[in-house]
Amino acid sequence: MNEELIEALSDIAEVRLDEPLSRHATFGVGGPADVYVIARTEDELRLAYAKARAHEAATFIYGSGSNVLVGDGGIRGVTIENRTSEVEGPAQNGAGYKVRVASGVSFATLARRMASAGYGGIEWACGIPGSLGGAVVSNAGAYDRSLKDVLKSVRTGDADGNVATVPTDDLHLEYRRSAFTEGALADIVLLSADLHVDEADPSELRARIEEFDADRKASQPPGRNCGSVFKNPPDHPSWWYVDQVGLRSHRIGNAQFSELHTNFILNLGDATARDIVQLIELAEARIKEQFDIDLEREVALIGEFE
Ligand SMILES: Cc1cc2nc3c(=O)[nH]c(=O)nc-3n(C[C@H](O)[C@H](O)[C@H](O)COP(=O)(O)OP(=O)(O)OC[C@H]3O[C@@H](n4cnc5c(N)ncnc54)[C@H](O)[C@@H]3O)c2cc1C
Repeated sequence: MNEELIEALSDIAEVRLDEPLSRHATFGVGGPADVYVIARTEDELRLAYAKARAHEAATFIYGSGSNVLVGDGGIRGVTIENRTSEVEGPAQNGAGYKVRVASGVSFATLARRMASAGYGGIEWACGIPGSLGGAVVSNAGAYDRSLKDVLKSVRTGDADGNVATVPTDDLHLEYRRSAFTEGALADIVLLSADLHVDEADPSELRARIEEFDADRKASQPPGRNCGSVFKNPPDHPSWWYVDQVGLRSHRIGNAQFSELHTNFILNLGDATARDIVQLIELAEARIKEQFDIDLEREVALIGEFE
């Protein structure tokens, strides 16, 4: 890796070399990132991204690692972890309130924090562990709601370090997809998101959050996983297909389809990314053969797998 780039990045933010990504992914698997930058402020995020792009380094933005499967070979180039944390507002905006949230803030934490302060509209996100940036990319959602319902606009940084405001319509948010996942918005980093919230009774919000928590506890397994592996096709949820093809509790190496929720794969201990990919591919092949359906992956495979 280019020494000059590493030095320039070190002037902007904390840099680690050969950082094991297994430490930073909810799956607990993944090889090293050649250069790992930890951005704690918006300027660090924006400037580190621009610097890496100026050096034409392969650049990957890493949120909370809760929707990625990093290959055992790790990631070449520059990986920038987004630990930005600023929250501005809520401030009155028309009939409701606007809150500006740094893209590194956890969606779940934000939902709980807003609820405690008496602002509702995002309490359904109390169990979505990733960052707001990651939530924009996949239009994260739960309980028939998604980020699209409350997102007003995002602020982005480009390869030259310029900041722009992008309205929600231009993000093409749909069920677990966006202009980012479709490649229509490339070469930018999400810096912050403006969300609409409304005043609400904190005790009612707390009660709803307790219900959501209880529901997740009953339906989703604990342990190291990435949430849903596949997107749900129109006819049946993905877990149903995985179950139908006999893969409930099926294990390869130290990775296993959960018994409780068959759209979750668990890392039982020392699983490798390869174990997990083999399980994913096995499910895809069996479901294709039995139902002639191509399941779409919700989890993104990144880095090197060989
Ligand atoms: C237990 C569990 C439960 C879950 N439940 C849900 C659920 O109910 N609903 C749901 O929708 N998801 C759910 N997820 C999946 C996950 O939490 C969401 O997809 C989340 O939004 C991902 O955010 P992240 O920060 O972890 O993104 P990462 O996994 O770090 O990254 C995902 C993608 O977003 C890109 N990205 C991240 N930040 C930025 C940025 N600032 N700028 C540009 N690109 C960026 C990355 O490059 C990558 O391509 C769950 C996951 C787990 C582990």
